Amino acid sequence: MAAKTPITVAYGDGIGPEIMNATLQILEAGGAALDIETIEIGEKVYLRGNAAGIEPSSWESLLRTQVFLKAPITTPQGGGFKSLNVTTRKTLGQYANVRPCVSYHPFVDTRHPDMDVVIVRENEEDLYAGIEYQISPEVTSCLKVISRPGSEKIVRYAFEYARLHNRKKVTCFMKDNIMKMTDGLFHKVFDEIAAAYPEIRKEVWIVDIGAAKLADTPEAFDVIVLPNLYGDILSDVAAQIAGSVGLAGSANIGDKCAMFEAIHGSAPRRAGQNLANPSGLLLGAVLMLVHINQPEAAARVHNAWLRTIEDGIHTYDIFTEGVSRLKVGTKEFAAAVIERLGQKPNTLQPVSYKSRPAAAAGAAGAEGSTAMELKGIDVFVYWPSRDASALAEAVGKLAGDGLKLDVIDNRGVKVWPAGIGETFCTDSFRCRYLATGAVSVPKVLEVPQRIAAAGIEVSVALPLRSFAGVDGYSMVQGQ
Ligand code: NAD
Repeated sequence: MAAKTPITVAYGDGIGPEIMNATLQILEAGGAALDIETIEIGEKVYLRGNAAGIEPSSWESLLRTQVFLKAPITTPQGGGFKSLNVTTRKTLGQYANVRPCVSYHPFVDTRHPDMDVVIVRENEEDLYAGIEYQISPEVTSCLKVISRPGSEKIVRYAFEYARLHNRKKVTCFMKDNIMKMTDGLFHKVFDEIAAAYPEIRKEVWIVDIGAAKLADTPEAFDVIVLPNLYGDILSDVAAQIAGSVGLAGSANIGDKCAMFEAIHGSAPRRAGQNLANPSGLLLGAVLMLVHINQPEAAARVHNAWLRTIEDGIHTYDIFTEGVSRLKVGTKEFAAAVIERLGQKPNTLQPVSYKSRPAAAAGAAGAEGSTAMELKGIDVFVYWPSRDASALAEAVGKLAGDGLKLDVIDNRGVKVWPAGIGETFCTDSFRCRYLATGAVSVPKVLEVPQRIAAAGIEVSVALPLRSFAGVDGYSMVQGQ
């Protein structure tokens, strides 16, 4: 037998312990070689006064095994508790969230019988970087962060996933017709990395129409890779329309540590009654077996599970009169899967998994250019009178040598020079100063200082640069 792989297991809350017991029994009977360490997380830890829901000693286990099989937990009501999922994801650098969304027609009710989509969501960047500001009494702002290394990691992961799992196509969703720089970078990196995988088809959709197509015709997609926000929304849409929210597992993958779980929660009302469906956690565990390079055990367990579903042995949540044959509890379902180890489904597609090749090569995308040139500065100011001409009059003369007030906008729409009276204005304006020749950072930073010294509230000051000769700032609308 292969050497056992150490993993960290948390039994979680609510239905967690029951579905974890069932899952681990099936894994063991299926020949998974696991050396299990158990940690406590969730409600009890939160209620002991630990706001993160995880003890420092548990981190030690996670960092050592680098593989975490996690049952759902209950986040106590009331403020002050940090989401454990967000904490582990961020602390362990888990940049990829992978969620296979599959329908099991005709055995589980679905409107999309041929759906088999894997959502690969970027997990660390985008509007979820958590960089938010209130910049004036009326205006708030959230910074969308998309980086080249972040995009390269997730796109490369999606293509490697497709290659390993014999997937034929990777689709990128984004919106670079509007967010030309951030989503534009994601798109560019996608094109660059796709070129290294000629055997896999590539496709790009603007996220709005892509989302509509996914909801309507999910069988048109295979693997989908997306930035964080779109991925958050569409992975839930995809799981829901597959008809299998209770059946879906997911993986959070980092360079070192990975976490595997069901997508559902701890269902406290169902706890302790031998009712819960362990399938979501079991399929999360199958993703784990592939990740730790135990493909035979992964396939054996997955095929036995498919056969159980096909034989109509269903827990209450997917039981349908006339389709299902036997309504069972958690333990009986686990026993039925164990009984079928070694068998394959007849109607549903059997699965097979390959050994994972050595770590994917890091090369692919072009290096970002480091040739930077300072071009000016944007200064956001609080201007409650909302009179753009008066603002231009007040701040135009504060440009100083070598800089010139170029344009003023409100929420991205030009209001000076030659603004249109109808444009709705908030109390926060952006004044853009451009250099007339070579200029230094200290020099451009004098502009907000002069504005502040003139008694005008400055909220943000952002130097403007070009990179390899391309302006690193968007044009103002109406310019
Ligand atoms: P939930 O997913 O726990 O339950 C939603 C519905 O689905 C309920 O009707 C439940 O009975 C049913 N259900 C869920 N899983 C099932 C299963 N395996 N078998 C049979 N039926 C199942 O969502 P919720 O009620 O919104 O949340 C309950 C708790 O779970 C909350 O404390 C929430 O914070 C937590 N939660 C945790 C995670 C996680 O740990 N990853 C994820 C989501 C929610």
